[in-house]
Amino acid sequence: MIDSTISSFPLIGLVLLLGLAIGSFLNVVIHRIPRGESVVRPGSRCPACGHRVRPGDNIPVIGYLRLRGRCRDCGAAISRRYPLVEMLTGIIFVAIAIKSGLTIDAALEAIFASAMIALIFTDAREQLLPDVITCPLLLFTLLAAAWRGGWGEPVAYPFDLSLVFATESETGFPAMRAAIVGGLLIAAAVPSFWLIDRLDIFLFNKYHDWQTETDSTRQLTAEEETAIASYEHQDRRMKRLAMAIAIVSSLLWVTLALRLGNHDPLAWKGAWSGLTGAVTGALVGALPLWWLRTGYYLVRGVEGLGLGDVKLMAGIGAFLGWQGALCILLISSIAGSLVGLWMMRTSTARLATAIPFGCFLGSAALAMLLKQIIWLAA
Ligand SMILES: [Zn+2]
Repeated sequence: MIDSTISSFPLIGLVLLLGLAIGSFLNVVIHRIPRGESVVRPGSRCPACGHRVRPGDNIPVIGYLRLRGRCRDCGAAISRRYPLVEMLTGIIFVAIAIKSGLTIDAALEAIFASAMIALIFTDAREQLLPDVITCPLLLFTLLAAAWRGGWGEPVAYPFDLSLVFATESETGFPAMRAAIVGGLLIAAAVPSFWLIDRLDIFLFNKYHDWQTETDSTRQLTAEEETAIASYEHQDRRMKRLAMAIAIVSSLLWVTLALRLGNHDPLAWKGAWSGLTGAVTGALVGALPLWWLRTGYYLVRGVEGLGLGDVKLMAGIGAFLGWQGALCILLISSIAGSLVGLWMMRTSTARLATAIPFGCFLGSAALAMLLKQIIWLAA
């Protein structure tokens, strides 16, 4: 399984540098997305004094070491999270390159891993898994699965929906069915987020708001109101963009599957299998969490698990397959319960809903993605 196409040190060094740079961008995402701020402009600023970070101080990891962890202008401590995220991303990128070589598959895995890192740290800091990340993530994982199934290294799906939908012979490509059902599945990725939000209102008569959740009796400050408004604005804009990309991808899938499906039926059958396998994985990952959350709410009257966890698990299941999704659910529940028990013993506070479960899901997904490398190193 281990691809040895990347074995030279200069190449590994370049991948490491790319990972550090992407990690630096992920820091911006982790800091700004929950505040509804743009990740593009303005440039990096010190959160304490607002001074621009000088280009030399903005170099991943090295900038932090040069400044000895303090802002050059006001001396405020810079969070250790910054070099940590950068190094983590760099190491994971190198691990992916060693596992998959310098291939399109590796690029897809790197995008998936970047989303996991951003979500793990956002959830740890803010108890929030923004739709701005999880919604495009689901669309991305569906398209990536179709690509990998047809032309890359497919995730093994010995039991997937294409067995239900396909009746043609082993090598035949069910072009018409695959084109129509596949197009609908791709187009449904973004509306499924809308649907799962609406279901909450339908079932519980309320939607859990992310910031008012902690203390609904407290009056929000003007600053918080602005932050929520721009967060929601950003959310709507991202969903519109994702929907536009989904419609274009869906039409592209339908056209290409119908026109080219019979030129290379094996590859297209693989792509179709990859896409339906991803949908199976998304459902296997998300449905148990959604049932758990709904059941908990109906019994206890409080939210034990966020909708963000359900949405994240859909993306994870779509990328890693239904077997991967089951493993991740198992690992995360065990790890989450252990940490929860430990927190109950060490803190006097009652066990609130304060365990950021998304951290466990994201970390388990990264471990599953890199399991060959982890076994190799162990
Ligand atoms: Zn400062």
